[in-house]
Amino acid sequence: MFGCMKCSKISGVLFLVFGIVFLLEDLGLWTLGLSWYTIFFALIGIISIGNSMCKDCQAMMKGKK
Ligand SMILES: [Zn+2]
Repeated sequence: MFGCMKCSKISGVLFLVFGIVFLLEDLGLWTLGLSWYTIFFALIGIISIGNSMCKDCQAMMKGKK
C-alpha cells in the first residue's frame, strides 16, 4: 500500500491502531476529541516522511522508474 514491505506493514499497523481507537470512540468507551480527518492527514504525513527517509522505498521507487 505504502512503499516497501516494511513501510506497508508499519502504515497498516498505524491505520489499524487508529481504526480501533475510533471504534472505541464510536462505542462510547473512549473520548479522543479529535476529528478523524486530523488523524488521517497526520498519518499520511507520517507515512510520507517515513517513505522519504526509508532506503528500501527509495530503492523501490528508483527501480520502478
Ligand atoms: Zn520503506
